[in-house]
Amino acid sequence: MKIAVIGGGISGVSAAFWLSKSLKELKKDYEITLFEKNEKLGGSIDTVTKGDFTVEAGPNGFLDSKPYTLKLVDDAGLSDKLYKSNDLARKRYIMRYGRLIRLPEKPPQFFKTDLLTLKGKLRVIAEYFVPQKILEDETVADFARRRLGSEACDYLISPMVSGIFAGDPEKMSLRACFPVIYELEVKFGGLFKGMLKKREKKSGPAGPGGVLTSYSGGLINLINDVAKKFENVTIKTNAAVKSIFKENEKFRICYGDDSISFDVVILTCPAYEAEKIIRPLSEKLAVNFGKIPYAPAFVVGLGFDEKDIKDSLDGFGYLIPAKENRKILGALFTSSIFPERVKNDKRLIRVIMGGDRNRWILEKSNEELIDIAYNEIKDTLKITGKPVSNVCFRWEYAIPQYYIGHLKIAESVEQISSEIGNFYVGGNILYGVGINDCTKRSFDIVEKIIQNIK
Ligand SMILES: Cc1cc2nc3c(=O)[nH]c(=O)nc-3n(C[C@H](O)[C@H](O)[C@H](O)COP(=O)(O)OP(=O)(O)OC[C@H]3O[C@@H](n4cnc5c(N)ncnc54)[C@H](O)[C@@H]3O)c2cc1C
Repeated sequence: MKIAVIGGGISGVSAAFWLSKSLKELKKDYEITLFEKNEKLGGSIDTVTKGDFTVEAGPNGFLDSKPYTLKLVDDAGLSDKLYKSNDLARKRYIMRYGRLIRLPEKPPQFFKTDLLTLKGKLRVIAEYFVPQKILEDETVADFARRRLGSEACDYLISPMVSGIFAGDPEKMSLRACFPVIYELEVKFGGLFKGMLKKREKKSGPAGPGGVLTSYSGGLINLINDVAKKFENVTIKTNAAVKSIFKENEKFRICYGDDSISFDVVILTCPAYEAEKIIRPLSEKLAVNFGKIPYAPAFVVGLGFDEKDIKDSLDGFGYLIPAKENRKILGALFTSSIFPERVKNDKRLIRVIMGGDRNRWILEKSNEELIDIAYNEIKDTLKITGKPVSNVCFRWEYAIPQYYIGHLKIAESVEQISSEIGNFYVGGNILYGVGINDCTKRSFDIVEKIIQNIK
């Protein structure tokens, strides 16, 4: 059996790994080909080491509260390379009135915090009494205002949406982006009611929870080390798939000046690429992929001498609500989260810019972005000297946006894929953008393929 995996990010790599492992265990005859457009694997994951600084270009890590990325690393026999964040990373800050205020984690902190006014806090508590309303789809902002009030929407929920999706809560679908939160209202009548029930049942946390986890030397090593464990997988880099069509019950995949036939296809490339290559196979599928927009997110890494930062950087970093009218989405204190990422007592801060609401960044040069990033964090973090190192990563199509109606797109993609048969859409375009969501999707797809074979 010949299987094609299109896209060499974490989704494609995890799919190829689990598939090769399962087929080998079943003693099946198989050949897997992994097509990657770029010269190396990783997709949104890349790690760059420059002098004393090791900087992640994309994701920082993943939470250990969901199982699939941990399982991937474990199945590959690489668990000893996992790297947990410093305990400091539990402390997260939100900016309000230009100041950094610690995000409350427990009820006593919530009552004391300046993050919300007394009126705002009482409105959050009143969530318990807000009547249940089951809507098929609702924006994250409408949901937050309805259940928690507008202040909590602006200062708690909106930063969370920009932190995960670089998204605009006025457009994002609650059900598609945060299904666990949606379920709390549907199953239990509200957020507090749901969280209390979950606590009673000890059915695990309602929120994200977990410890931020990375990999020794950076996430790109996770990708490369897992790929080294592939068996019977041909990795084709610099091999952008141009089109897929059906020919004699098989899929013909065209790349470069060549083409190969396959029995099964797993697609994990971004929606805007999938739209182009899938058209000869299914116009309807292409139309669906074309409906998924992307937000830009640029990452500026700034390295400092310890003496030049007066702030203790004791925490994960901070997010900035749109209401604060700043030019960045937030900043991560990388050298506090993962001390291994710097040498010689240096400090590393990753500034995140852009998002769905700030497309003006696309016009700026790297030098301008580095200047903006520095000027935005300078006073907040009491920085007295210039960065000794800087780097800018431009992700113009960083993260797919699950707008209202996204689940209809997902449903339609599933239906068309099953009509095509032996064709699977993975990646981050349907059911979650976190690394854990991507690995879960790949695991589920591999399970389906194996079931079909059995
Ligand atoms: C700046 C940033 C920060 C993030 N932070 C976090 C975080 O801290 N934690 C977290 O969990 N998630 C984070 N994410 C999200 C997460 O990194 C991504 O959702 C995830 O890595 C996507 O993996 P993927 O394999 O599905 O897609 P991608 O990584 O996009 O991989 C798709 C691959 O397909 C290839 N491709 C494209 N077209 C073709 C073609 N025609 N033929 C062949 N190959 C093709 C691409 O080159 C790419 O390598 C972040 C994302 C970004 C951009």
